[in-house]
Amino acid sequence: MAIELRQRLRKIIRLLKRAYPDAKCSLNHSNAFELLIATILSAQCTDARVNIVTQDLFRKYRKPEDYLKVSPKELERDIRTTGFFRNKTKSIQGTAANVVMGNAFGISSGVVVDTHVTRLSHRLGLSTQKTAEKIEQDLIAIIPKKDWVIFPHLMIAHGRAICRARNPLCAECVVEKLCPSSYLKTGVMPGM
Ligand code: SF4
Repeated sequence: MAIELRQRLRKIIRLLKRAYPDAKCSLNHSNAFELLIATILSAQCTDARVNIVTQDLFRKYRKPEDYLKVSPKELERDIRTTGFFRNKTKSIQGTAANVVMGNAFGISSGVVVDTHVTRLSHRLGLSTQKTAEKIEQDLIAIIPKKDWVIFPHLMIAHGRAICRARNPLCAECVVEKLCPSSYLKTGVMPGM
């Protein structure tokens, strides 16, 4: 079963890499923690806008501790233009606290899990877990290590273009044949 799942996932990754060849270049970052922050900021925001904000942000906040030294209000101001800045501030400070306390999975070597990765992992049958930490544990068990960084970018690209939260375009999906949730198979439109 696990072998079948791994093989299916390898095919999914191969097809998505072909469909989104630029996926990994879209969010500027110089390490995995910055990538995680940029990914949190990218929810409901364009990557271009995130890159503008992170240019200053990553100069001011160089390590996870730096995000905890400021008040939520200050961080909200720094990320305001990416939208949903109150929730994003909570996520960023929560994530930074986890990293500082050493119980966050995979900052230096893991898979970033955001809303797109969560939704698509569920739909593609890669995890049934609810929390980002547990989904990540499922994913790192089946994704080849060389693809840990690119994987969330592929999910984000596909989640924005085709596998949207509402009314996913299964008929146009490059991994439709490998997806158990496709409405072409189930007759039911996948929801969140
Ligand atoms: S078939 Fe539909 S639900 Fe499955 S990944 Fe593609 S768009 Fe998403």
